[in-house]
Amino acid sequence: MAFSLGRRVREVLMVTKALGSPRHPVLVHIVPVRRCNLACSYCNEYDDFSNPVPTAQMLHRIDLLRALQATAIHLSGGEPLLHPELDTIIERIRKQGMLAGLLTNGYLLNIERIQKLNGAGLDYLQISIDNLEPDEVSKKSLKVLDQKLQWLAKYAHFTVNINVVLGSGVRNPEDALFITRRAKAMGFNSTVGIIHDHSGQLRPLSGEQKRIYEQIVGFGEKMFSDFVHYSHFQNNLAQGLVNQWHCRAGSRYLYVCEDGLVHYCSQQRGYPGIPLDQYKPADLEREYHTVKTCAPYCTIGCVHRVSVLDEFRENPRAAISRFFPQRLPVPVRILTWLFLPKPDGRGTRLGNLTARLLRMR
Ligand code: SF4
Ligand code: SF4
Repeated sequence: MAFSLGRRVREVLMVTKALGSPRHPVLVHIVPVRRCNLACSYCNEYDDFSNPVPTAQMLHRIDLLRALQATAIHLSGGEPLLHPELDTIIERIRKQGMLAGLLTNGYLLNIERIQKLNGAGLDYLQISIDNLEPDEVSKKSLKVLDQKLQWLAKYAHFTVNINVVLGSGVRNPEDALFITRRAKAMGFNSTVGIIHDHSGQLRPLSGEQKRIYEQIVGFGEKMFSDFVHYSHFQNNLAQGLVNQWHCRAGSRYLYVCEDGLVHYCSQQRGYPGIPLDQYKPADLEREYHTVKTCAPYCTIGCVHRVSVLDEFRENPRAAISRFFPQRLPVPVRILTWLFLPKPDGRGTRLGNLTARLLRMR
């Protein structure tokens, strides 16, 4: 996997834009085909018969999202690799200046497919692997996918993330630990998700699952966003505790289904259920403020990550205190000291120092 400076720059620009501008969609999940080639028993996001969305319609939807100032579009499903012209859709996302991601079960990957995704300009690919050996719950198994991972490690130019899951329906939680170690050994990023049940809601982890969760989190990248994510949202979920947060779905995060309707997320389809071509800035504004009653036990980490940006934008000191109730990690203390306005509101230390050096005050 090649490190891409260009991608890093575009990521920084995305976060900067999100922190500076309050209402555009930061992340969109869009479904190019609802059909899936697998049938995981916990999943409520697939069927076994749908046709792919016609490519012209998909391209039009990408253009509409760009008009709403979206910054990143991830293709999900079903299984998006079942769409015969997925590369054309990825190319359009990139041509419109947005980051392009793909959530796949990985079954259809081969060397040629990976090279086509490189050519289309894909930025991220995520595979969720649920167990070591296929069982009646899930066939997303390391045994089946390991060869695909080796090809990705050798040929992919995009960032690869391996997601493991713990929670309802996962028979051997130890598998998640083994898969994470394998992902790290191959140089991939790794994340752990706490799986929701059929209603999209949380079931608390067992004692063994919690122990494994702690170990996996210990492998994680110690980036600021990971501190925020794992130390707060995920840790609460692991303990079966509620999260107090304002979900910004319908505004900062959109889920666009195969019929071109905008929903809050995969687990709250039908709300608001407005066609994308009728979705306007007034809808983004309304949904930014709408309180979602499903938020306390929600397990959808990507929406939380996006919503966290607004907590920082609106009240950075309060947000940091909430995320680190005991003691701030040293890097966060330094950044806070340098960049946040002083408690008396008189500018930032870095800003004041720069002004003094330039003799502006
Ligand atoms: S592979 Fe993904 S979309 Fe397909 S059934 Fe499993 S969880 Fe659902
Ligand atoms: S809180 Fe938001 S992301 Fe979570 S289920 Fe509800 S609408 Fe979806």
